[in-house]
Amino acid sequence: MNPKHQEKFDQVIERMTAACRACGRNPGDVRLLAVSKTHPAEAVRTLYALGQRAFGESYVDEAVQKIDALGDLELEWHYIGPIQSNKTRQISARFDWVQSVDRLKIVRRLADQRPADRPPLNVLIQVNIDDEPQKAGCRSDEVDPLAAEIAARDNLRLRGLMAIPAPREGASAQQQVFDRLFALYRHLQSGHTGVDTLSAGMTADLEAAIAAGSTMVRVGTALFGARTTV
Ligand SMILES: *Cc1c(COP(=O)(O)O)cnc(C)c1O
Repeated sequence: MNPKHQEKFDQVIERMTAACRACGRNPGDVRLLAVSKTHPAEAVRTLYALGQRAFGESYVDEAVQKIDALGDLELEWHYIGPIQSNKTRQISARFDWVQSVDRLKIVRRLADQRPADRPPLNVLIQVNIDDEPQKAGCRSDEVDPLAAEIAARDNLRLRGLMAIPAPREGASAQQQVFDRLFALYRHLQSGHTGVDTLSAGMTADLEAAIAAGSTMVRVGTALFGARTTV
C-alpha cells in the first residue's frame, strides 16, 4: 500500500477527531464520506483496506463503472452530484444513498425506479442554503414539501439534509451559515422520525461544519489529493 494514502487518511481522521473534541462532540457521531470522484477504483480499494466503507460519486457513468469494478467489496455508495432526469434509473438502482435530491420530479422518479429487491434508498435533500443562482439544491422553503413527498414513499427513507455553503472569509461568517443550516436540520428532525444526517463540510471547511453540528463530512482532496479533471 502507498504510505501516502495511509498518512492522508490518518490526517483526515485526526482533523475530524480534533474538531469534535474542540466542541465537545463524540467523534463517533460524525461519519466520513470519502469522495472518490475522478479517482480510480484502486484508490477506493486502498481506503477500504484502511477501514473506510462509505464513498461518494458525482458522475453517474464513472460511478457505475467503479461500482461494477468493486463488486467484491462491501461498500456504501452515495450519489452527491447534480441529478438529471434521464439518470435517475441508474442512480436509484445502483446507489445506497442519494444526497442531492432537490425537486419533486426527482423524488418521484427515484421512488418509482427503486428496484423491488433493494432496501429503501436513503435520501438527503440538498438545500441551496445561500440561494446562489446556478447552484444545485432547493430553497429553504422547499424543504418541507420535498420531505413530505419522500416520507410518503415506502422505498425511500428520508435521512436529512446536504448543503455546500459558499466559501466565506473569516470563521464567524462561515459559522453563521452552518448555524442556519443546522437550524433547518433541527426543524426537519422535529417533523420526521429517522432524520439523523446533516451532510456538510468538505476538505476546506470540515472543522466549521463539525462545530455547527454536521454528522457527515464529504472529503475528497484531503484524502486522495487534487483532482486532475473537474
Ligand atoms: C467534490 C465534492 C466534495 C469533496 O470536495 P473536496 O473539497 O475535494 O473535499 C464534497 N461534496 C460534493 C457535493 C462534491 O461534489
